Amino acid sequence: MKRTIRELNDIKGKRVLLRCDFNVPLDNWGDIQNANRIDAALPTIKYLVEKGAKLIVCSHLGRPKGYDKFLSLFPVAVYLMKSFPNKVKFCSKVFGPEVDLAISKLRDGEILMLENLRFVKGEEENSPTFVKELCKICDIYVDDAFGVAHRKQASNYGVALKKPNAMGFLIEKELEVFDKAFKNPAHPFVAIFGGAKVDDKLNLISNVLGMADVILIGGGMAYTFLQAEGVSVGNSICSHELVNDAKTILEKAKEKGIKVLLPVDHIAECNGKVKTVRQPEIEGEFVGFDIGPKTTKMFQSEILKAKQIIWNGPLGKYEDKRFRKGTEKVAKAVANSGAYSIVGGGDSVSAVQEAGVADRINHLSTGGGASLKLMEGKILPAVEVIDSI
Ligand code: ADP
Ligand code: MG
Repeated sequence: MKRTIRELNDIKGKRVLLRCDFNVPLDNWGDIQNANRIDAALPTIKYLVEKGAKLIVCSHLGRPKGYDKFLSLFPVAVYLMKSFPNKVKFCSKVFGPEVDLAISKLRDGEILMLENLRFVKGEEENSPTFVKELCKICDIYVDDAFGVAHRKQASNYGVALKKPNAMGFLIEKELEVFDKAFKNPAHPFVAIFGGAKVDDKLNLISNVLGMADVILIGGGMAYTFLQAEGVSVGNSICSHELVNDAKTILEKAKEKGIKVLLPVDHIAECNGKVKTVRQPEIEGEFVGFDIGPKTTKMFQSEILKAKQIIWNGPLGKYEDKRFRKGTEKVAKAVANSGAYSIVGGGDSVSAVQEAGVADRINHLSTGGGASLKLMEGKILPAVEVIDSI
């Protein structure tokens, strides 16, 4: 078992370096557009503050190449002040004498927010010099940055190898949810897959093949599967080189008695005109951008019978309101199903939020790439380096 902050003794007075994922969207005024990621880390911060840590909080924000005033973490420090009045300080450096001085002045239970880790070269490369600097400023390391847990970087991998460490409540919750869903699923277990491309999602489908009772495939990825079944896909997005892999998945599912449902109708575009089409009408100029009404009904009926649902990938090009309906109706069906529901992936979570049903989904896994790795059944590198107890 990996150590969580609950199992850390002797936090009081210690310099605790906490890696968070505060990669939040900011507008040109520096106003935070969506603070979900900060709010999600508050329980861990609160716990460490109450235990009397000298808490040093670090994160990345965006993809800066060196210093970029539009990607400063100062607005995040200001946001934290609302939850921890008079306890939050900000230092405009990542390490060096200014940081050392700020830490020396930090009292037990106070928070020092460091500047964007990616302003200094070496974070993403997990450079030994960067790791050494981070090690100098802390006695204990805590990781709660789920969003980058699938990457090996200095502040979530390098430093964890060198310091006594633990994971925060956010990462712990994500691991627990997927562990339970895969090791002990409630049946019928319905897995829903969609999204733009099948390329990075085949492993995910393979992983649920042994567990799910029903697999619903929509979105752009459906066309690779339809092609595998010999259905004409027109100019719809299709990974021709993966048609054979898709065929293998369909055959394996059949052997195991798993029901795989592919779209039977589509909302497609042809020279700017949007039409509902049945197969095999999709050919030539037609591009399929959403599942059609018949498919949606078929999917809804499986979803309403489910006891557990896992969903990754919008079922259409939902950013365009002409192609949003399939995703929206499926999101509402998932919310109304009464099944234990997990939605993972950046776009999938946005789609569920836009459909207005986010509060009726049991677990929204916001980690993007990290959620996908968990759905593939993989161990995340940043979790692997946390001490076992
Ligand atoms: P997630 O971020 O949840 O893992 P993806 O990034 O894989 O999901 O997929 C989301 C993207 O897939 C969206 O940008 C959406 O427009 C696109 N998409 C879904 N269906 C189609 C389609 N039929 N054709 C083209 N793009 C699609
Ligand atoms: Mg995406």
